[in-house]
Amino acid sequence: MGKVYEYKHPLIYHKLAFIRKKETGPKEFRELVKEVSLLMVYEITKDMPLKDAKIDTPITSSLNVKLLAGKKIVLVPVLRAGLGMLEGILAVMPTAKVGHIGLYRDPKTKEAARYYSKLPSDLAKRQVIVIEPMLATGGSAVEAISLLKENGAVNLKLMCLISSKEGILKVQNEFSDVDIYTAAIDEELNVDKYIVPGLGDAGDRLFGT
Ligand code: URA
Repeated sequence: MGKVYEYKHPLIYHKLAFIRKKETGPKEFRELVKEVSLLMVYEITKDMPLKDAKIDTPITSSLNVKLLAGKKIVLVPVLRAGLGMLEGILAVMPTAKVGHIGLYRDPKTKEAARYYSKLPSDLAKRQVIVIEPMLATGGSAVEAISLLKENGAVNLKLMCLISSKEGILKVQNEFSDVDIYTAAIDEELNVDKYIVPGLGDAGDRLFGT
């Protein structure tokens, strides 16, 4: 079963409180989502492999250092709310490739349906980080991960701002090989499948719609 990492850090608790607050407008909301996402990168990249190298500094030569090695990263935000977190992650991983997946909820079936995807061709060689800020029913995350696997991805992590217990279980039941990194875990969903307490509609709050 995939592991779940919940961030229990004072800075993240504090910033999340303001992200959740209904009076927080889009400008501040975007800034805070960016800051929390940036902080979350620390944990999600903790297992990145390193290689030894030598460098010269202005003072000495042949200093032994560690550099990132191995799998390159691709970030895949699920449109459109994923774009808010993407900015923060790119601030510390500016050379990561970015793929995009567009999903909408089919009004009849209530299931996540695909409308867009643009992905790097070498997914199999990359560490894929799926960015789905609100893991509610888990339907969109499962659809996004399925699409990525169909396109060759084998190494996937899921990054969320707020996850419901139901959404986590759904992802864990479908994919035993995908770990979930989430800034918070909320108790339940309401009848409209919004996370409670949550923060409302992440896309609307990011973009003021
Ligand atoms: N998507 C959102 O933006 N918010 C939720 O609470 C659930 C899904």
